[in-house]
Amino acid sequence: MTCVFCEISRKEKPAHIIYEDKDIMVILDINPISKGHLLVIPKEHHEAIQDTPVKTLVKTWVIASAFAKIYRDKLKAPGVNVITNSGSPAGQVVFHFHVHVIPRWEQDGFKKGGRHVLSEEEASEITSMLSDYLDIVKSYLNEISI
Ligand SMILES: [Zn+2]
Repeated sequence: MTCVFCEISRKEKPAHIIYEDKDIMVILDINPISKGHLLVIPKEHHEAIQDTPVKTLVKTWVIASAFAKIYRDKLKAPGVNVITNSGSPAGQVVFHFHVHVIPRWEQDGFKKGGRHVLSEEEASEITSMLSDYLDIVKSYLNEISI
């Protein structure tokens, strides 16, 4: 079975990559719930949170936390949701563990449940907004030495 996140991590499929190291990649969701919706994805394939080795979990959640910090403190998002879905009843769609970082803006329409299609324009705007703050991700990782 093909896995879209494995294909992206092997560069067989394009994605808007915001951050990447040997273990983890952070990409833009192609159907964002809000502007700036990110997916933090370990490169190694594990189906869900319960299947993922602890070291990988730690690194994934620490990077997600760094982006939550960037959104609130640098990009002035008044709210952020950081979540993972495990299993179909919980809304998991891609069965490769990942964490959503969803910045929340006033009037972002989240409550209506509307997702939209990511445009190239929006993708490049968010990529450039975040690129100034990737040192925050590195400083978070330095603290755990992973
Ligand atoms: Zn996979």
